Amino acid sequence: MKIALIAHDRKKDSLVEFAIAYKEILSEHDLFATGTTGQRIQDEVGLNLTRFRSGPLGGDQQIGSMIANNDMDMVIFFRDPLTAQPHEPDVTALVRLCDVYHIPLATNMGTAEILLKGLQEGFVDWRLIQERRK
Ligand code: PGA
Repeated sequence: MKIALIAHDRKKDSLVEFAIAYKEILSEHDLFATGTTGQRIQDEVGLNLTRFRSGPLGGDQQIGSMIANNDMDMVIFFRDPLTAQPHEPDVTALVRLCDVYHIPLATNMGTAEILLKGLQEGFVDWRLIQERRK
C-alpha cells in the first residue's frame, strides 16, 4: 500500500509521535510525504520514504497528482484547524481528490489510528467493492 504522510507545522510533533507508535505497521508500506514532514519522519522515526516538495511549494499537489493517477492508497494528513495556511487551496484540493477517488483520509490521530489498524487487519477493500459493481 502507498501511504502519504503530511502534517501542518503545529501538528508535526503529533505526526512524529504517531509514526513512532505505528512504526512497525508503517514500515511495511511505501511511504510518501511532503518535504518538511518527511524530513522529520526520516530523522526522528527512521522510516524510509519518498519526499516531495514542501506543502506550500506544491507538495500537497504532488500527492494529489498520485491520487488522480490511481497511485495512492491512503492519506494521513494532520491538519491544523486553528491556523490559516497560505496554501489552503492546495489543502482543499487534496481533501477533495481523496473524496473523488475514495481514498481513505485521516485528518487527525484518532482516525489515523483506526485506518492503520484496519489496514493491518485487511479491512481496506473499497476497490474490490467498486469492482463488483461494474
Ligand atoms: P511540509 O508541508 O511537510 O513541507 O511542511 C505540509 C503542508 O503544510 O502541507
